[in-house]
Amino acid sequence: MAEKKKTGGAKLREKLFMQSKNGCIEAGEKTLAEADLFCEDYKKFLDGAKTEREAVRTAVDLAEKAGFKLYDPHKAYQPGDKVYVNNRDKAAIFAVIGKQPVEEGVRIAAAHIDSPRLDLKPNPLYEESELALFKTHYYGGIKKYQWTAIPLALHGVMVKKDGKRIQVSIGEKEEEPCFVVTDLLPHLAAEQSKRTLNNGIKGEELNILVGSRPFKDDEGGELVKLHILQILNEKYGVKEEDFLSAELTCVPAFKARDLGFDRSMIAAYGHDDRVCAYPALRAALDVKAPERTAVTILADKEEIGSEGNTGLQSRFFVYFINDLARSQGGEGYRALSHSQCLSADVNAAFDPTFPDVMEKRNAAQLNHGVCITKYTGSRGKSGTSDASAEYMAQIRALLDKNDVIWQTGELGKVDAGGGGTVAMYIANLNVDVVDLGVPVLSMHAPFEVVSKLDVLMAYKAMMAFYEA
Ligand code: MN
Ligand code: MN
Repeated sequence: MAEKKKTGGAKLREKLFMQSKNGCIEAGEKTLAEADLFCEDYKKFLDGAKTEREAVRTAVDLAEKAGFKLYDPHKAYQPGDKVYVNNRDKAAIFAVIGKQPVEEGVRIAAAHIDSPRLDLKPNPLYEESELALFKTHYYGGIKKYQWTAIPLALHGVMVKKDGKRIQVSIGEKEEEPCFVVTDLLPHLAAEQSKRTLNNGIKGEELNILVGSRPFKDDEGGELVKLHILQILNEKYGVKEEDFLSAELTCVPAFKARDLGFDRSMIAAYGHDDRVCAYPALRAALDVKAPERTAVTILADKEEIGSEGNTGLQSRFFVYFINDLARSQGGEGYRALSHSQCLSADVNAAFDPTFPDVMEKRNAAQLNHGVCITKYTGSRGKSGTSDASAEYMAQIRALLDKNDVIWQTGELGKVDAGGGGTVAMYIANLNVDVVDLGVPVLSMHAPFEVVSKLDVLMAYKAMMAFYEA
């Protein structure tokens, strides 16, 4: 049969309309296989990095194996040198020194390594009705009802008065016990069911069950609590007051898993934002002697507003750029003014079960590639940096030139809500910034979903950015 001749309209449509194809069709078998392989390593990273401290430790380990050295501000570095800064074990910077002077500008990819979770209160342990429980204060934006009746693992550190630091991780291994927030049985939930979804479980109801067997002694009260403290004392050498100087947190005990018959997706805790942090780190490890110094930031505290000395509102990143510029006889502020940044954070993927909150023409879709978000914010672009047309043009051209499959997306309908990223804090330093990241389903839930192809495209985008 002869090929059907294209009409004038069809030709013009091809020329003028924006194309939006499923990336899996565009990519081809080889790229899909590459995505699957890349994501095997990503899943391992996820399982080993459920808190910002674990993410820093894992990232520093990988970086040191790749030849990165702890940054020394008194040293002058040569192109191709690899250095890292560890900020209090909770945030880190990885830099590969470029051929151009730092004052000419650096290339920054900034992702965050904290995720929503249940933090223990400073005085968490109590006994009620012969059960031992932990009081929690949730961290970041969560839908509280999602955190009940799922297996939780306890992670973090306790620091004793003498400064001795005790690493805690219980509940990840099959043979270890786990923990849980109990929920009311449906038979007796008539009143609870009348609450709004937001109040279905209240903050003070996120109590974690940690024990039930009393200490073998009938003297005195709180024997279950006493028994738990005895176990903790034997295992870690701590007593109740040591909880006061601890950062303990409960996270889902699930491992990252392939999702779907076709294994095209990954379900896991903490994709936001390790799904951008890992590609950014890998780009830092893989880039060789770039023109401009390549700087990967893994930041803490994004989920609570980038506050604190390990968040990106802190000066730690600026200090590093100052040191780096001055070691070459330049000025940090000039370096920043000439710098460009990909704020590597996730965006919401279109969910066919909840189409009403999305404006379909401007929503990101799973498998359509890495997502560029020109602006985030809420209520009329409040709380965003809004990338310039010039910078968007540069990034578009870069991604197309390097065969990166990409799309754009807004965070939902104009009046549906909104959110922010670290973009505006870096933009405030006079850096060109745009958000770029992986679309996520069930964002901030204990089990989030991403597409493997989109993860690979995030990595390819960051590599192209560093190598440009
Ligand atoms: Mn995020
Ligand atoms: Mn988030």
